[in-house]
Amino acid sequence: MIVKGNKMIDLQCPEHGSKCKVKGPQVCRSAAGFYIGYYCPDCGPYDRVSTYFPTEEVAERALQICEEII
Ligand SMILES: [Zn+2]
Repeated sequence: MIVKGNKMIDLQCPEHGSKCKVKGPQVCRSAAGFYIGYYCPDCGPYDRVSTYFPTEEVAERALQICEEII
């Protein structure tokens, strides 16, 4: 799901198609913890591409590292 060279990409929402934009990869929050994933502002979480992290800071650092590698 992570596209090389694109830090933020727009995906079509599985529920509403092109009517709403799925944003990501970004740090998302759930009951299980913080993770890197894609989020639709209208429909909620769309996809998770990382493991769960204990804090938002760790998740943000992991996202930075991913962007530096790809
Ligand atoms: Zn949507």
